[in-house]
Amino acid sequence: MKTGSPSCDADVPDRADHAVDHARIERAAREILLAVGENPDREGLLETPARVARMYAEMFSGLHTDPKVHLRKAFTEKYDEIVLVRDIAFNSVCEHHLLPFMGHAHIGYLPNGRVLGLSKLARVVEALSHRPQVQERMTEQIADLLVHDLGAKGVAVVVEASHTCMTIRGVRKPGSVCVTSAMKGLFRSNISSRAEVMSLIYGGRSQ
Ligand SMILES: [Zn+2]
Repeated sequence: MKTGSPSCDADVPDRADHAVDHARIERAAREILLAVGENPDREGLLETPARVARMYAEMFSGLHTDPKVHLRKAFTEKYDEIVLVRDIAFNSVCEHHLLPFMGHAHIGYLPNGRVLGLSKLARVVEALSHRPQVQERMTEQIADLLVHDLGAKGVAVVVEASHTCMTIRGVRKPGSVCVTSAMKGLFRSNISSRAEVMSLIYGGRSQ
């Protein structure tokens, strides 16, 4: 087994800011303020539309990045046991309410001769989370990418997240956590491999 911190290299992700129409978001934010009965021209709100535009550009930056680029730097290695990176923190935006959901992703895979730099898994999560998302889809997308673009023999992805659309509005259930998982290849077909990766994901955690 090999585990590691996802933050061990410092390359900067592309921030394709130019692809986002800031002026349009600013107009829309101003419209929302007017629509809820606020005065967008009062002092405290003057800079708000511009801030909202910068915020959305950042939260949706993943729409303009290709997560596959992070898999190109895989290196050849004879290691053929499970590689697991646990507790990759992420924040995303639920596409149904445009409210944040945030939590942790745990990614395990069985290499097929190619191993990724540990931080690349965190880069993949970042690219796929910084866009309007659904947790179930994001979980599948991470797993599919590692199967198809890394050629992993098995992939296990577990995502645990708290959705503010459930905690601050609607049913208002603070503390609820949504757990999704995707098992591919050997982790899907072989029960003992799946049990091993799940025990690594949850091993040593106080639940
Ligand atoms: Zn939602």
